[in-house]
Amino acid sequence: MSAAEHVNIIGAGLAGSLLAILLARRGLRVTVYEKRADPRRAVVDSGRSINLALAARGIRGLERAGVFDRVMPLTIPMRGRLVHEHDGRAELQMYGVRPEEVIHSVSRGALNRVLVEAADEFESVELRFEQTALGLDEGGHAVRLRDESTGRVHTADAVPTIATDGGGSALRHALEARGIARVREELLDHDYKELTIPAVDGGHVLEPNALHIWPRVGFMLIALPNLDGSFTATLFLAKRGANGFEQLKTPADVAAFFAREFPSARALMPDLDHEFFENPQGLLGTVYTDGWHAGGDVLLLGDAAHAIVPFHGQGMNCAFEDCVELDRMLGESRDWASVFARFERERKPNTDAIAAMALENYVEMRAAVLDPDYQRKKKAAEAKEKADPSVIPRYSMVMFHPEIPYADALARGRVGH
Ligand SMILES: Cc1cc2nc3c(=O)[nH]c(=O)nc-3n(C[C@H](O)[C@H](O)[C@H](O)COP(=O)(O)OP(=O)(O)OC[C@H]3O[C@@H](n4cnc5c(N)ncnc54)[C@H](O)[C@@H]3O)c2cc1C
Repeated sequence: MSAAEHVNIIGAGLAGSLLAILLARRGLRVTVYEKRADPRRAVVDSGRSINLALAARGIRGLERAGVFDRVMPLTIPMRGRLVHEHDGRAELQMYGVRPEEVIHSVSRGALNRVLVEAADEFESVELRFEQTALGLDEGGHAVRLRDESTGRVHTADAVPTIATDGGGSALRHALEARGIARVREELLDHDYKELTIPAVDGGHVLEPNALHIWPRVGFMLIALPNLDGSFTATLFLAKRGANGFEQLKTPADVAAFFAREFPSARALMPDLDHEFFENPQGLLGTVYTDGWHAGGDVLLLGDAAHAIVPFHGQGMNCAFEDCVELDRMLGESRDWASVFARFERERKPNTDAIAAMALENYVEMRAAVLDPDYQRKKKAAEAKEKADPSVIPRYSMVMFHPEIPYADALARGRVGH
């Protein structure tokens, strides 16, 4: 292979920008097409989560790309879940049994900017913003794009293309239309809305080194810390029915609901009335795809292939693990069609496993953490792990043990979780 072998990446989000760095380090020439404006210059539209939980699998990807040192100062460690009960009691449930077993809150925008910046440092990477992928050309070998600044439609070079264009992937739709990808999108009957717990005098008003949860069995509120002293809170509710979004139509409905269900959080949210009606109500769902690639022409990766619900905090971590695995496979072969086929074969059981565990974790977060029986079992599992480090609870396997594939974590069972 020549050092100038060329690859396209569609989408300079979290996975696309990390992958651009990895492939450039491998000596490939990379062109990245992103529909949004350059995130270093424009305000990123925060359609989705403003901050994310970064765990060991994601860190492994950032380390492989040589950028973790730049990301680390942007993170806040979260040692456990701080569970806020109805009666105002609050208890920290540690995530791991060792001090280093923490997860890290990081701003999506800041992380994306670091990755784009680092990708741009390679001469072999060309970043092209405001370029929206529309689908494939007639032959199905190259991607059609629209330049958003001129409206001109053009075609990318017909070279291997890796589609990291997220959960609504245009390239996945294109493969589906050609009968290559078989796709099932399962929407959850719960939506989410982001809200803010602002800083007071520049400081956090809740414990900063924790992920806060107000579990209410059928629904929940969570909050992750930001570096500026604020928290981003996310409300997860059923779309319809009692305690559902549909019932919260007026400021009085919202005020009464929060006063009843989340009085301690309500007291920390001065802009609630405004934010609740201004901020979008986001959808949640799982995308199951069979047929992630068209020969050696196109491969779906990250959310484009396998978007999941956010309750295990693993979508980005899993997408970064995808990047590591693809990079590793490209170190062994440059036969693109066989690498793409191998990637799907080896990753799909793992991405299906994390999709299932993410769905299960919603019940754990909003209900089980309140159950004394669950807490007893969790403590027993922690004691076992302390006595015998090979007995690892499933949550820890997923969050802290990237050497254990997701499918093995699922199969090894539900020790303590
Ligand atoms: C509420 C919520 C909370 C979450 N919390 C966590 C968490 O705590 N931890 C975690 O690991 N994961 C979390 N996730 C999941 C995480 O956001 C995704 O898994 C992750 O962003 C996937 O990365 P990606 O690069 O595949 O897709 P994205 O980050 O969505 O990037 C896709 C990129 O492609 C671009 N694009 C889209 N369409 C086109 C097109 N047609 N042409 C060109 N470019 C295009 C987009 O502009 C974007 O830049 C959360 C998700 C949600 C919704």
